This record gives sequence, C-alpha cells and structure tokens, in this order.
Amino acid sequence: MHELGIAEKIVEIALASIPEGIENPKVERMNLRIGKFASVVEDSLRFCFGIVVKDTPLAETELIIENVPVLVHCNKCNFEWEVDDPIFKCPECHGTDLEMLSGREIDIDSIELAD
Ligand SMILES: [Zn+2]
Repeated sequence: MHELGIAEKIVEIALASIPEGIENPKVERMNLRIGKFASVVEDSLRFCFGIVVKDTPLAETELIIENVPVLVHCNKCNFEWEVDDPIFKCPECHGTDLEMLSGREIDIDSIELAD
C-alpha cells in the first residue's frame, strides 16, 4: 500500500509549510491535485492520511482531492489530447512517440490554516 508513503510525504510537506510562530496551528483544508495515472487509490490515501495526521496540526484537516486529467502530446505531429485508458497511440498520426504532459502528479495545491 504505497498510499501510506504518499500520506506521510504530503503531511511532512504540509507541516513544513506552516509558518513559524503560530500558536497551536490547525490546518483546516488541504487541496491536492492527483493525476488519474498516479496510481493513487483515493480511499486508501484518505485512510492513511487519517492515521498519519493523528496528534498533528492536521488532525482535523479536510482533504480535498482534485483529479488531474491525463494529457498526452505526440512528438511526431504535435497533437495533444486527453486519454482515459493507458493505451497510448496518437489518434492523428498513429505515432507512438508520445509524452505525458500531466496525469502522474501528486501535488499539494494549497494548504489553508484555520483562523
Ligand atoms: Zn501524432
């Protein structure tokens, strides 16, 4: 279950981003962007996140997850399109020299502290 490692990582980053000098900081909301092909099971991630944040300023954080579509670029004809399945072939020129522009990211978009 690699979601545990991801949860640990994002919590680590979130904790590091809390400005110093705030007494009893509480993170209200955390916005994540996760690519459709990042192989992240959202329910698992939420479950692991709940374990990792125990006794941290993120204990009551609401996790908002935005799914990022998979965008592919064809290096041969420069066509760009969105894919839903992992079979990659350019629909224009049928080339296979392709580049994935997005869809694998696991990014923290923003972290909102409670007042
Ligand atoms: Zn092409």
